[in-house]
Amino acid sequence: MPQIILNSKKITFQKKYSTRAKSIRISIRNWELILIIPKPWFFSSKDNIEKKALDFLISKKDWIFKHLWNQQGGFSPLSKNPDLNNNTRIHYLKYKEEARKVCEEKCKLWWIKMWISYNRISIKSLKTKWGSCSSKKNLNFNYKILFLSEKNKNYLIVHELSHLVHMNHSSNFWDLVCETLGNEEFRKYKMLVD
Ligand SMILES: [Zn+2]
Repeated sequence: MPQIILNSKKITFQKKYSTRAKSIRISIRNWELILIIPKPWFFSSKDNIEKKALDFLISKKDWIFKHLWNQQGGFSPLSKNPDLNNNTRIHYLKYKEEARKVCEEKCKLWWIKMWISYNRISIKSLKTKWGSCSSKKNLNFNYKILFLSEKNKNYLIVHELSHLVHMNHSSNFWDLVCETLGNEEFRKYKMLVD
């Protein structure tokens, strides 16, 4: 698959030629970036349209990063980890309970340090998020937390627990995250997953 460097990250994308597309477009499906190119126009050469398509892709880099990366970090197609790229239900069912154990243990651990209580932990197969929380103090985690590094696992847990105090990404929220993890590097931290 073709690759391009955007913001010094290697991004893999799929090229699709379409007879119906009237202009160059990009879309994201299952975390995969797709560059849609109209079948070469009658008057322009193939090289020409290929270059235009790449220029278009580069011009949309902010959009691409916004959509490929959520608040907490990045998923595929930046990841080479096959478990992070496996989006099947079988995979989810296989690892769901193991992920629950990890989340429960870590939440308990951080709860003692932060003194923030929560209700229920749910493990889900989320397409674009690592975690979320509700006003009822329920926490949801993506089962793929299992495949993250210890550092990222702890960050994710602390991030969501901190939302039970600050339901936003205000400076107070980041103060709490950094104070809990004991490091300023976690301010507006973007997890890099691989
Ligand atoms: Zn958040």
